[in-house]
Amino acid sequence: MTKQSNKDEKKKVVCPCCNKESTKKDGKRKTQNRGLIQRYRCLDCNRRFVVDDGFFRMRNHPKKITCAIDLFYKGVSTRKVQEHFQAFYPHNSHNTTIYRWVVKYSNMISGFTDKIKIKGGAEVQVDEMEYHRRFSHKNKNVVSKDWFIDSIDVQTRFLVSAKYFNSRGQNEIKEILGEVRYKTEGYTTTITTDGWKAYEKIIKRTWGYNNKVGKHNMKHNIVMASKGDGFNIYIERLHNSIRERTVTFRGFHGSVESADSIMKGYAIFYNFIRKHQSIKCCPYELATDLKLENPNKWLELIEMSKRN
Ligand SMILES: [Zn+2]
Repeated sequence: MTKQSNKDEKKKVVCPCCNKESTKKDGKRKTQNRGLIQRYRCLDCNRRFVVDDGFFRMRNHPKKITCAIDLFYKGVSTRKVQEHFQAFYPHNSHNTTIYRWVVKYSNMISGFTDKIKIKGGAEVQVDEMEYHRRFSHKNKNVVSKDWFIDSIDVQTRFLVSAKYFNSRGQNEIKEILGEVRYKTEGYTTTITTDGWKAYEKIIKRTWGYNNKVGKHNMKHNIVMASKGDGFNIYIERLHNSIRERTVTFRGFHGSVESADSIMKGYAIFYNFIRKHQSIKCCPYELATDLKLENPNKWLELIEMSKRN
């Protein structure tokens, strides 16, 4: 470790009890699967603590956890990831553990990435996709009809907002568009949707009316063509790749909250991890100022979400 990064580390260590920065290194804690972890002592309240790097109290090594998440979003089932670990790691993880990691870290990272503003283009496309979620593995006939509602910035292909709902109504659209407004402020001038009536009113309400110009602040572009038939091509392509991936997502048949977490993870994978074929880089590289340097971007994003 260089002197500079040592200094940075020292600066950042804050006591979790009293929030004071007067702390010192105080030995190391031995963990079974994560090696030695630096301990600190607070010079104010005398308490000993370790810094939560996102993996606090986890029984597995960060590398193994992020490897599982990466494989999951690349389309490998949790059962296959578990089989792979069984062959290569001494401490085995159950396939439901892998699923729990996916949910936990998708929520953790999106807590950070959802706050990032996007420097996109003029057009954002919004669309919905219907999902059938089974209530239990035992009874495959009882399904809930859910909705995945999302929006994409056409220029950078950045998935601006994506959420999994158990219904499709005004409140859900309002939530998605509110997020678009927050993230793309100053860039987006047109929202493209299908002909579904709910959009019109909510777009007008979300961005409001400009009295000076005598126009609504956001242009609403309605494409009436039937879906799958040349309708909003960018978001349709995205939906196709999501469909392709989510066939193997077993957790989808659980609660609506966990389905939403898995979709949050997919949005992270799509925006930050996977290279987009048509722009030849990741959407975040075009849409944000964020710099990721670690080849293990999942790990870097987890560390960032703990620091921010
Ligand atoms: Zn303290």
